[in-house]
Amino acid sequence: ATQVGDSTLKEVYDQSCTSGSGSGLPFLVQLTVARQVTLVECIGKGRYGEVWRGRYHDENVAVKIFLSRDEASWSRETEIYNTCLLRHDNILGYYASDMTSRNSCTQLWLIMHYHEHGSLYDYLQRTILDHDSMLLLMHSASAGLVHLHTEIIGNQGKPAIAHRDIKSKNILVKSDGTCCIGDLGLAVTHSQENNKIDLGRNNKVGTKRYMAPELLEETLNPYFFDSFKAVDVYAFGLVMWEVARRCTIGGITEEYKPPFWDVVPSDPSFEDMRKVVAVDTQRPMVPNRWTLDPVMLQLSRLIQECWAQNPKARHPSLRVKKSLANLMYRPKKKLLQKIEDCKECNNC
Ligand code: ADP
Ligand code: MG
Ligand code: MG
Repeated sequence: ATQVGDSTLKEVYDQSCTSGSGSGLPFLVQLTVARQVTLVECIGKGRYGEVWRGRYHDENVAVKIFLSRDEASWSRETEIYNTCLLRHDNILGYYASDMTSRNSCTQLWLIMHYHEHGSLYDYLQRTILDHDSMLLLMHSASAGLVHLHTEIIGNQGKPAIAHRDIKSKNILVKSDGTCCIGDLGLAVTHSQENNKIDLGRNNKVGTKRYMAPELLEETLNPYFFDSFKAVDVYAFGLVMWEVARRCTIGGITEEYKPPFWDVVPSDPSFEDMRKVVAVDTQRPMVPNRWTLDPVMLQLSRLIQECWAQNPKARHPSLRVKKSLANLMYRPKKKLLQKIEDCKECNNC
């Protein structure tokens, strides 16, 4: 079989010019690549299709296969990746889209970079974190969110994008312990130039468990793009809470739980969520022991400022990223460190 020239897919991707075909490979290369991918194992099953690990020669790729009734999500994700410059370390990398017909059945594929750790949701189930690994996950994910939210002007530019389905299952963990944001099937875009909000033609709504109060109350103003960004920041607050629970402090770690696990059923209805989040203004509990640790104390404040009831009171994603960076590069408390070293030293 012939590859694309003699180069690996990664090489072709790194060398390919991004203009014209947005973030993916040039269109003809996309088709060539897609038709040489073989499916190996199913790694994710959602309501809207399946994700497989596939092989392109010696390389792993992830193949998202959409049900034909969810063509709207496939075309939206394809459109976003092909028109916007989304190449960024913290946005899931995109190779190609393909639509084929097999036995008169339409097959819709999206071919992406493969990450063996899987989603942040899966990763948190089996991983215990310390301050640094926790902040690395959060900060990198926030960098992805900032890149989405930020409009870049110019012909190498991109519109502002709101994700609308931020949750731990839509964030992937890379082998270096950083995150990238995936699943752009619900994204909306906005550019200042014509002040137009493009909602796509996808009528689906985000995940109920992560819906902000203004969505549950149906008071969101869809003509004001910042509304959509504030919805992402609310959900990002919940994700940070999920991650923070897995951080060990003084030998104690909370087990993984999804937000609102203790107050709504496993597949909550819109009404269940509306009662808890909008009417009763409940939020996930912040464990008492977090207040005893300086990093966790600051982090819990940040989380609470992200999931504020009033969308205007929430931080912009850039503020979230900067606050996380400050926590990452906090001055090591030299004195304290010395005392701790000393406790472990048998010479004293
Ligand atoms: P859906 O739109 O059906 O929710 P997603 O794009 O969110 O599809 O993918 C569903 C699941 O498949 C994710 O939660 C994750 O577990 C897995 N997955 C998706 N993309 C990848 C990838 N590139 N590498 C590894 N696992 C992935
Ligand atoms: Mg998803
Ligand atoms: Mg989706």
